[in-house]
Amino acid sequence: MNLSPHFTLAEMLLSQDATRAGIANIPPPEVVTNLIRLATLLEGVRLVLGGHPISISSGYRCKKLNTLIGGSRTSQHMQGLAADFICPAFGTPRQICEQLLDMDFRFDQLIFEGAWVHISLSDIDAPLRNQMQTAVFKPGHKTQYLRGLL
Ligand SMILES: [Zn+2]
Repeated sequence: MNLSPHFTLAEMLLSQDATRAGIANIPPPEVVTNLIRLATLLEGVRLVLGGHPISISSGYRCKKLNTLIGGSRTSQHMQGLAADFICPAFGTPRQICEQLLDMDFRFDQLIFEGAWVHISLSDIDAPLRNQMQTAVFKPGHKTQYLRGLL
């Protein structure tokens, strides 16, 4: 099933962690509706990045999968409102964040995660917060999220 011209439902559900753990990661209908909105957002990202292919490493996560991988308890991935991605043909994750900020691209949260970019939408009735954050990983500590692109 295509969610938009360049994004499929299958790529938003695919997770090696889920497969390995035998988790089905099947979204309820309201999540599919959100994933269609998310794919539309990603079409915009794709355009801003010169039309290069975007590779999704994590889209929807059912609660079980989110717990398994240590995701935040309020992760927008669980509502189908967030995606982690890279776009190597455009540039590094940092360059992707810089470009989205330079172009005044609208999002709920944009997180520079080092090796990938996390982008999210808000619930349909909530305003977009346009929050830019940088994830800081320290071994043995919880991931910290600091304001801005650091
Ligand atoms: Zn994410």
